[in-house]
Parts: sequence; C-alpha cells; structure tokens
Amino acid sequence: MGERVIALTDWRRATPTLPATRIAATGLLADALGRPLHDLRISVTDRCNFRCSYCMPKEIFDTRYPFLPQSSLLSFEEITRLARLFAGHGVRKLRLTGGEPLLRKHLEGLVEMLAGLRDIDGQPLDLTLTTNGSLLARKAAALKAAGLRRVTVSLDALDDSVFQAMNDVGFPVADVLAGIDAALDAGLGPLKVNMVVKRGVNDAEIVPMARYMRDRYGAAVTLRFIEYMDVGATNGWRMDDVLPSADVLARLRAEWALEAAEPTTTGETAERWRYADGRGEIGLISSVTQAFCRDCNRARLSTEGQLFLCLFGSQGHDLRSLLRGGAEDADIASAIAHIWGRRDDRYSELRGSNAAPRDGGQRVEMHYIGG
Ligand code: SAM
Ligand code: SF4
Ligand code: SF4
Repeated sequence: MGERVIALTDWRRATPTLPATRIAATGLLADALGRPLHDLRISVTDRCNFRCSYCMPKEIFDTRYPFLPQSSLLSFEEITRLARLFAGHGVRKLRLTGGEPLLRKHLEGLVEMLAGLRDIDGQPLDLTLTTNGSLLARKAAALKAAGLRRVTVSLDALDDSVFQAMNDVGFPVADVLAGIDAALDAGLGPLKVNMVVKRGVNDAEIVPMARYMRDRYGAAVTLRFIEYMDVGATNGWRMDDVLPSADVLARLRAEWALEAAEPTTTGETAERWRYADGRGEIGLISSVTQAFCRDCNRARLSTEGQLFLCLFGSQGHDLRSLLRGGAEDADIASAIAHIWGRRDDRYSELRGSNAAPRDGGQRVEMHYIGG
C-alpha cells in the first residue's frame, strides 16, 4: 500500500507587490512574451458533485479532504469588483467554472452582476460558464435571464457504464443530455460539449458521441475532444493514457468527410474541423501534443482570489489580501498589471524538455482554478 497523498488546497501564495508608481489601466497589457490579457476564468467553488478520475479522484477528494470554508471564498461583490478591474485591462471574456459552478448558491445573482460590466469599448463582456451539466436542466432558464450568453457542457461518453465509471458517482448520461437540451431551449447556444479522451477508457465513445451531436443538433453543438492533461498532482497522469488529437481525427475521418476551418479568434484553443455535409463542426484541443502557449491570453482566478497565470502554475498571487486589506481600485489594478507584465509561463511548450519547471508536485489542482 502506498501512502495516502493529501493534496494541498493552500497553494503557496505570493502577496502581490504594489509597484512604486501606479500603472494606469489602458486596456493594452502585454506579458513578458507580448501576450495580451483577454480572458478571465473565475472558479466560484472548489467543490463538485462528480469525482472524475482525471480531475478529483475519489481516493483523495473524500470526506476528509479540506475543501475551502465559506469565509475563504470570494464574495459575489469581490468577484465583480475584480472582474471590473480586469475588464479595464482589456479582458473581454469571462468564464465561470470550478469545481462545479452550479453548486455555488444563487449563481444567477453573480451572473447578473457580471452582466452589468463593460469592456474597454463599452460593450458587455462575453459571459460564459463551463459545467458538468448535472444541474443545468434546472438552472438554464434562470442563468439566461440573468444575462449568461453561452455554456460549455462536459460529457465524456454516451454509454452509461463508461460515463458513470468516469464521473465515479454513478451519474446518468440522460440527465446531462437533458441539461444540453434545456440550455439550447433557453437560448444559451450554440453550445460546446467538451469530452476528455482517455485511451482505453472512453476512446470507443469518440465516434458515437460525434454521431449523436451532429445528428441531433447539427451546428447548434460543437463537440470538442480534449487531450487528457497532466494538470494537478493527484490524477496519476501518464503519457500512455493520452490519445493524441491526430488519432481522434483519423477515427472521425474514417466515418465522415471533414474540412479544416480557420480559427475565429486569436488564442482559440481548439483546432476546428467542419463536416463537409454542413452538419456543424468538431474541435480538437491538443494541449499535450500541440502546445498553444504562444497565444495564451487567459488568466485564472481561484475560488479564494488567487490569480494564476497558467493552468500548470504552482504559485498564485493573492488578490484577496488586497481586496480585504482595504486597497483602492487603482492599487489593485496596478498590481494586476505588474503581475501580468512579468508573466512568462509556457508550460505546455516546455513539457518534457529540460526547461520544464520542476515543482516537486506542488502544481495547483484543476478544480481549484477551473479548466
Ligand atoms: N465541473 C465543470 C466541468 O466539468 O465542466 C467545470 C470545471 S472542470 C475542471 C473544466 C474542464 O476541465 C472540464 O471540461 C473537464 O473535463 C476538464 N478537465 C479536468 N481535468 C482534466 C484533465 N486532467 N485533462 C483535460 N481536461 C480536464
Ligand atoms: Fe467535477 Fe468538472 Fe472536475 Fe469532473 S472535471 S470532477 S465535473 S470539476
Ligand atoms: Fe496557457 Fe499555461 Fe496552458 Fe500554455 S500551459 S496554454 S501558458 S495555461
């Protein structure tokens, strides 16, 4: 028997240094590699009702796991204040995530507050959410009414036994599918459905999932295949478990004619392929075999207000201490500019090379900063 590994929720944190002179928000931040700040992912809870083995394996995330107490979580007001300051630095897109974001009580209240924010051109922010879909049928209409624009639903298989083994809590596929239908009915489309592919676990589901989504929804749903990643330190990742996107594509092309489509935005993570018969498209997210750090314009805000600059970061920047320490907006905005200006993270490009950061397994967990 190996020792039980307790994952840390209290990741090493750095209290941000306030630059000697304030850095005004111009909406034009660039990091050390010239990358702008465009997209902010906000984790609203570190809890989840699933135990996907690649994210929150049951053996570790059990009743003894020290999830964050309510007092540690950023309040809706604190999240909205930070989001407004990020928008001043050029952020145009917000994605609520977790954990399972729909477990956060009255999330539509937060959505309504965020929907009132504007980007540097005076436009509403592109407000989206990633969910496992379990509570979506119940909440889709309220989220839409509060101002949510779109949702991304994660679903790893159509076959109940495969899906239930992956979510590891016996949650049925039918309820997630009902959530997808409800989201489309509520006007939260077009939808993205994310499927993490693990070799030998759910790769036989690639073609059935594609067939279901294209036949039932056509262009209203884009299925995206995600390479299983080595995020966190608890999922026991091995390269052998990764099915490269090139193999996923080959399996799809054996069934349907597909044409490469151009990216719609810079920093888009998915490579897009269109069905030649016009029944929509699929996406391939090759975080392992084809790094896309060069255009990475995403920052992540953890449930307790730590700013992470990379999914594979090991250290957060503690914005909550500034919020709760009485800092003024201009100081917090300056701190954000200072932190982003020094960002040089590009973990996926370096993965496997000698230059890859060695952090002694202290990497932050996905449910804490969100995907
Ligand atoms: N609970 C929500 C959900 O599952 O959609 C939101 C949070 S979840 C951390 C966000 C996304 O990260 C999901 O699409 C999930 O499948 C993906 N994810 C989690 N662990 C992963 C891993 N090891 N490799 C690739 N994707 C992963
Ligand atoms: Fe929960 Fe999402 Fe992680 Fe699965 S991937 S355990 S649904 S947070
Ligand atoms: Fe962005 Fe880090 Fe992922 Fe590279 S590894 S794409 S820098 S989050």
